[in-house]
Amino acid sequence: MLGLDGATPVKNCQLQLANLKSPTMIPVADAIQIVLDQTTSLPAESVALVDALGRILAEDIVADSDLPPFNRAQMDGYAIQAADVANTPARLRIVGESAAGAGWHQEMKAGEAVRIMTGAPVPAGADAVQQVELTHEVDNAGFVEILEPVKTGRSIVRQADEIKAGETVLRAGEEISAAMIATLASFGYAQLKVGRRPRVAVMATGSELVVVDQKPGRDQIRDSNNYTIAAYASLAGATVERLPLVGDDTEELKRQIAKACEGSDMLITSGGVSMGVYDFTKAALKELGAEVFFERVALRPGKPTVFARLGSALVFGLPGNPVSVAVTFNLFARTALRAMQGAKEAMLVPHTAVLAHDLKGSMDRESYLPAILRTDEKGTLWVEPLKWGGSSDFVSFARATALINVPSGVGRIEADSPVKVLRLPS
Ligand code: AMP
Ligand code: MG
Repeated sequence: MLGLDGATPVKNCQLQLANLKSPTMIPVADAIQIVLDQTTSLPAESVALVDALGRILAEDIVADSDLPPFNRAQMDGYAIQAADVANTPARLRIVGESAAGAGWHQEMKAGEAVRIMTGAPVPAGADAVQQVELTHEVDNAGFVEILEPVKTGRSIVRQADEIKAGETVLRAGEEISAAMIATLASFGYAQLKVGRRPRVAVMATGSELVVVDQKPGRDQIRDSNNYTIAAYASLAGATVERLPLVGDDTEELKRQIAKACEGSDMLITSGGVSMGVYDFTKAALKELGAEVFFERVALRPGKPTVFARLGSALVFGLPGNPVSVAVTFNLFARTALRAMQGAKEAMLVPHTAVLAHDLKGSMDRESYLPAILRTDEKGTLWVEPLKWGGSSDFVSFARATALINVPSGVGRIEADSPVKVLRLPS
């Protein structure tokens, strides 16, 4: 009990009580670091290449062959010796043909030419390819006239010029993009190791909530947070289970939270974490014995965000307001989900953009404000703050493509200033 220890001065005791009532606000960067420290990566699993898009590589990708695997023609034309065509036109005897998949595997000699197609192996003895447009084949006579000289090496990509067998070409921790698929396929990765998808349970809390296909009655609203969180969580690579709505009732919350944490890697609740009389999510977590890592962040919107662990599941208790949900999910829960899959860049990557209108910050909190990104014809990236109707204004937020980060203590930022922005996943 506080203050029972005779050595504790009364003043100190009151301070502690005050802290209990409103726990310390921690900076956003500290909160993100705590999330990263508490998150462990899930075991890797093997997936087929067709299912690999968007997953996080759990192994380095190594070339199993040189690229190109042979000296490759870059043009349709004739493989020749450059010295033979120093003076043009030069007449050469056609001794064979090398097509993609069916090369000419003899030694080509001086005075000879081999008809060659793009992607075909250049025969031994040839040291250049002259493109077909600069040649003239003498009809049925077995000769070609080369109309212009070429430099040695022209239109030939030498074996292993691009990649040597054994080279690492992609690294564990990278997200597999569509641009990477050719590389994975070309080096024979029919199956590959990726981080397992986190299993996320999503639970909206609040006695005012009804499900989306119901008409809200008096004092009721439709739940949107379950859908927003599910959307962002699947964009982050998770598999999502949306749980039934839970009212503001500590015992019911405790039952549902305990059940949800058993089968999931992460539980994300929304609502019930502010200072209202019916905000029971934190109490439920604490009574269940959850380890609470933080419960107030110097963030606008999203101050009352809770981060805890219950059993082996991480728990994010997000505030109820829909814009706060989008902001806090993307700063904290998304970071944990990416780290669980082994992503090297778990956090959204900050960019710099030019502010299109003046913007108000907050003296004691870091702001992440909804905005739209656009570029102009000069290539400048502009960011336009959306009308800020508060953290409940989900209709304004609907067009947001980014969040503008205003550091704590910055009262106002003038138009035309550079600002840090995070692109929202979409
Ligand atoms: P709370 O954090 O529970 O005090 O909720 C803050 C505000 O967000 C209240 O106006 C709630 O009605 C609203 N809210 C809470 N949960 C949801 C939800 N799942 N969908 C939409 N709005 C919600
Ligand atoms: Mg509520």
